[in-house]
Amino acid sequence: MPIKTIDARSIYSIHSINKKDTPCKYNEVTECPICHTTLVPQILDAYIHVPDNSIFTSLLYVICFCHKCHKIFICTYSRNNLYEYDDYLDFSHLQDISPQIPKPLSFSPEICKLSPNFVETYNQSNEAECNSMTQICGLGYRKALEFLVKDYLCHKFPNQSENIKNEFLSSSIKRIDDVRIKTLAERATWIGNDETHYTKIHENLNLDDMKRFIKAMLNYIESELAFEEADAIPRK
Ligand SMILES: [Zn+2]
Repeated sequence: MPIKTIDARSIYSIHSINKKDTPCKYNEVTECPICHTTLVPQILDAYIHVPDNSIFTSLLYVICFCHKCHKIFICTYSRNNLYEYDDYLDFSHLQDISPQIPKPLSFSPEICKLSPNFVETYNQSNEAECNSMTQICGLGYRKALEFLVKDYLCHKFPNQSENIKNEFLSSSIKRIDDVRIKTLAERATWIGNDETHYTKIHENLNLDDMKRFIKAMLNYIESELAFEEADAIPRK
């Protein structure tokens, strides 16, 4: 990130906002946190919030505009090299960017077609996780898993789709023939249930394990779909 300088306004209280009188240096971001375009942001303004009149614990807020998506985002910087002082206050530590929209995860066209609800729910859960909403993203991954299992089974057993959609997930999982997909779905559900309940049963397993198991499920399901496609090609 290139080091830039800016004259920021200092905010001591809501009744005390100075003119642009504090020279600062900071590391400018080079990618939009919303559309992920490489950019040189247009700087709209910059403020230093000085809590308790202490410049040491102050934060620099740089308000940026992206010319690609036309959205505004705020970069928050904290002090670096507190006791080194040249002509600028050093705010080179980027602490936070807000808002942050993670890049959508890419899933194969086969999975997108099989279960668009899984893809959407999984991506929303990933967004929650990337924004530190760790108490709720697990519920989202659990819901995404349910869509994946049920849509996979509805594809396999279209005549029983109404029952599959309305039964408990554990009952649906019992219908899965492939022992590898069944085991992965069952274990991922155990972890997902831990994310939804007051007490956690599987203390040694976490969200990363759940996501690994879902990823492995996707690989097996994609292989099965490819096999079905190949098997349907008539011999000539
Ligand atoms: Zn953008």
